[in-house]
Amino acid sequence: MSNHDDGERCYTNRCSLLAAIPDMVFEVDPDGTFLFVHAQPGQTFTDREVIVGGKLTELLPKEVGVKCLEAVQRVAEKREVESLDYFLPYPDSDRFFRAHLGPSTKGTVVAIIQDVTSDKCYQRKLELQAKRLTEANESLEQFVYIASHDLREPLTGIAGFATLLERRYEDQLDDAGKHFLSEIIGGAQQLAQKIEDLLALSRAGRGTINGPFPLGSAIEEARRSLVRSIKQSDAAFRIEGQLPLVRGDRSMIAQVFQNLFSNSIKYRRGEDAPLIWIEAHNDESGWVQVSVRDNGIGFDMEHSDRIFKVFQRLYTIEQYPGTGIGLAIAKKIIEKHGGRIWTSSEPSEGSTFYFTLPGAK
Ligand code: ADP
Repeated sequence: MSNHDDGERCYTNRCSLLAAIPDMVFEVDPDGTFLFVHAQPGQTFTDREVIVGGKLTELLPKEVGVKCLEAVQRVAEKREVESLDYFLPYPDSDRFFRAHLGPSTKGTVVAIIQDVTSDKCYQRKLELQAKRLTEANESLEQFVYIASHDLREPLTGIAGFATLLERRYEDQLDDAGKHFLSEIIGGAQQLAQKIEDLLALSRAGRGTINGPFPLGSAIEEARRSLVRSIKQSDAAFRIEGQLPLVRGDRSMIAQVFQNLFSNSIKYRRGEDAPLIWIEAHNDESGWVQVSVRDNGIGFDMEHSDRIFKVFQRLYTIEQYPGTGIGLAIAKKIIEKHGGRIWTSSEPSEGSTFYFTLPGAK
């Protein structure tokens, strides 16, 4: 087909096979002249009769026409298949198209055009929803931050006055009074710790994700911050194999290790000195999988999701101190890096925490 009439005839008479194709098919000269069009009624941006023989840059809006012509010329010259997305104004609304262009044996270019308006609309809807969710999340975080911040002040007052009362009037109180007072002070301290941890949670994961750094340096940073409890507990670390480079924020990842290591130390089994194994390897998809294993008390896997939630703990504060926020912070940081965190454990058999981070390659 090299002229208008051939194109018309082909559309109307010859191409019964083409007639069954729901997508549009165009044949275009490398100079952008339409030679042939196959389309269902109402599918093209203007009448088919006008299209055949017309030029891409004249019939389409300027920007789209130029973009399509450039693609046609590249395909004709390089003889390689190419795809491009664009939108066109139709009388009812804008429509989105995906064109797959291929070279023909005659030196022309054949384009199969799919109307992807509904896919695009769906995609836009999802993007909008994701944006709204991010905004809602941010304002929730802001709320937690402000609420925690504002709660700190009256609480400091309660704790301060209760301590003063204990100090100055202790000899005037009977045993029950002393007990009540120590309960108030203990409760205020617990609440203060929870508020501090909530503030830490709302701050965790803030900031930008930086370039690559050696995973080992984050481990070292975490160990430095725990030097006292490591010494007191006689904890030992075993790093298995080489540690890779990862992409992310070193101090955030150090915080993750710190929370995991301090748990391994806290939840140690009886008199056994805590032993912590660390391993990391690159997987085929460019991610690094890290594991932190310990020889501690472990836990039942039925709690494996719950322990990553805020304030969720498996023991009372009398059994093990803590507020149940360490793993929630770790999860938030890892998710901020696009990774995920999970665990595997058995009571009395130690626990392993796994997480993924983007690799440096
Ligand atoms: P916290 O230690 O303050 O309670 P976390 O969020 O760090 O808070 O941990 C949540 C719960 O998960 C802990 O209370 C504990 O029951 C369990 N847990 C976490 N790490 C370990 C571990 N290494 N071994 C056994 N249990 C653990």
